[in-house]
Amino acid sequence: MDLKNGLIIIFTGNGKGKTTAAMGQALRAVGQGLKVLMLQFIKGTWDYGELESIKRLEPDFKIQPLGKGFIRSNSKLDEKEAQENVNQSWKQARNEVLSDKYDMIILDEINYVISYGLLPVEEVLELFEEKPERLHLILTGRDAHKSIVEKADLVTEMNEVKHQYSKGIKAQKGIEF
Ligand code: ATP
Ligand code: MG
Repeated sequence: MDLKNGLIIIFTGNGKGKTTAAMGQALRAVGQGLKVLMLQFIKGTWDYGELESIKRLEPDFKIQPLGKGFIRSNSKLDEKEAQENVNQSWKQARNEVLSDKYDMIILDEINYVISYGLLPVEEVLELFEEKPERLHLILTGRDAHKSIVEKADLVTEMNEVKHQYSKGIKAQKGIEF
């Protein structure tokens, strides 16, 4: 069976490797002439190494941080700001998906945004139906919603066997960022 429609791919679970798996997939795709866009929800403040390396592959591989860092506190003001940021980010993500300019779009950490209650899962399911047929969509983040998992074609759950963080080793340049 040949693939006519793009795939919906999910990287979830509590082990490390979700975002980096999505980028590895993108790297393979770019080599085959596919145009890739990675949109990062949540992230936006750190200097991730991938911002630099993906720049070298422009315009075939583009990356755009949309977030404002992690949602830490539960103060009303921060919640409001986080919600506004997600609304804005989602609007942009939708536009990019519907633009039909890409063969693959990665929505990094979107699962987290959904599980946190900042984005209704129905909106995402609706976009699955509306997306250009050829487009591969990759969603990352812990706690993928059950209905997203049901709808997806390929779902991989990263399972934490060990993480150096539990030994007190802090985030490492080139590994975590
Ligand atoms: P990566 O970006 O390295 O592929 P990830 O996307 O799977 O990781 P996230 O849930 O996005 O992980 O978390 C971001 C950061 O938290 C990562 O840099 C990662 O090293 C760290 N992290 C991921 N899983 C764990 C874990 N089980 N324990 C502690 N830290 C973790
Ligand atoms: Mg991640």
